[in-house]
Amino acid sequence: MNLFYLISAVCFILGLKRLSHPRTARSGNFLAALGMLIAIAATLASSNVLDTNLILIGVGVGSLIGFLFATRVQMTEMPQMVAIFNGLGGAASALIASAEFLSNPNSPYIIVCLSVFIGSLTFTGSFIAFGKLQGIISGRAITFKGQQLFNALIALASLVLILTPNLLASDLMTAFTVIIILALILGIGLTIPIGGADMPVVISLLNSYSGVAAAATGFLIDNQALIISGSLVGASGLILTNIMCKGMNRSLANVIFGAVGAESSSGSSAEGKEMNIKSYSTTEAAMILDAAEKIIIVPGYGLAVAQAQHITREVADTLESKGKKVYYAIHPVAGRMPGHMNVLLAEANVSYDLLKDLDEINPEFEDCDVALILGANDVVNPAARHDQSSPIYGMPILNVDKSKTVIINKRSMNPGFAGVQNELFGYDNSIMVFGDAKDMLNSLLKEIKEL
Ligand code: NDP
Repeated sequence: MNLFYLISAVCFILGLKRLSHPRTARSGNFLAALGMLIAIAATLASSNVLDTNLILIGVGVGSLIGFLFATRVQMTEMPQMVAIFNGLGGAASALIASAEFLSNPNSPYIIVCLSVFIGSLTFTGSFIAFGKLQGIISGRAITFKGQQLFNALIALASLVLILTPNLLASDLMTAFTVIIILALILGIGLTIPIGGADMPVVISLLNSYSGVAAAATGFLIDNQALIISGSLVGASGLILTNIMCKGMNRSLANVIFGAVGAESSSGSSAEGKEMNIKSYSTTEAAMILDAAEKIIIVPGYGLAVAQAQHITREVADTLESKGKKVYYAIHPVAGRMPGHMNVLLAEANVSYDLLKDLDEINPEFEDCDVALILGANDVVNPAARHDQSSPIYGMPILNVDKSKTVIINKRSMNPGFAGVQNELFGYDNSIMVFGDAKDMLNSLLKEIKEL
């Protein structure tokens, strides 16, 4: 069996490696899924399996749910799906560890508790993240007085119950039950104060937690495949968390303990201020683009909502055919999941060579004629550079305001995910073209072709 686990581990590692580039990501995903299939088949074939029928029913129901999710969930709802899957992964690890604890009195108590603690915390934390992304719970930081002390006390009590259960509880069963309850509360307590634009960090961190919980459960039931896959998820989640922290220019501690975004209720400098908004038609926007030589397209979450990736490419191709230089600026946290804009534009077969990341594209705005913002907001908000009262202060942004003209397309003056107004919209070189991105681009394309 270990040979099959080794093969599956090789598939996971090669799959992860291939996932790191859009060109090879599809085959990487397939390879990792194949590895998981081999690991599941090897486990089922082992003699320890209790009831094959029950397992087959589980596989059937799980596959059906997975299939329905994969085919029905919109691209824009992917982050919510990832949050739910992280949560369910944590819950599964906690349940397996609990079953082991209840059926085997000799199971190592500390490992059981670690698995149950991290798994339960991941479960409630991920569902709060889901609620925030889905808009069921406010996306802003929810805080109360003494919150950090409250979380610290829960964490401390849990640690004592894990390491020296007799100190606080009469027996192991009571300690075990209390640990589950405390972990469920801590998951909520740690996630509700995170708001503003910092959710990408939390989602990748919870992803990492679900891997650590799985690895701990793997040690408990002595399953190498679970240890390896859990460790890989834990490590890659942590690497992604680090990348997201860099993208936000924040330390992990600042995100977790800083209650970033809480200040947004008091407002940023653009809040409540009169802005000089200039609303243009697509005909006027087309004329500006026609006169430009260098154009940088900035996609954001709204582009994904409108599913306007194909028409965006058509507009870009048409502009290029008229001799203009066109690039796409990709912010690491644009959209609602890591790599969202890359996936979206890859779907429309936009050449990878035209996609420029933050560091590469920012110097280019200085001599850019038009920055065309399509459904992006927080990632182009200049308040991040100078307004210390803004919840996105310190986050590196795309310096679109340095371009000669900034054309911004969105449907209204509503704020983006961080819930703050964008002062860029009132800048002298900014013009707004209101409307759904797909409709706007369709009519823009018509106008450009007619010029
Ligand atoms: P934002 O959420 O800041 O803004 C999106 C804009 O799109 C809105 O202002 C909205 O305005 C507009 N919009 C919505 N629908 C349409 C449409 N059909 N047509 C045209 N415009 C539309 O998006 P950004 O990509 O700029 O920033 C991402 C934000 O999400 C950041 O704050 C980031 O931290 C956060 N986040 C990112 C995650 C990630 O992993 N990438 C995960 C979780 C959160 P209007 O309603 O007026 O049209």
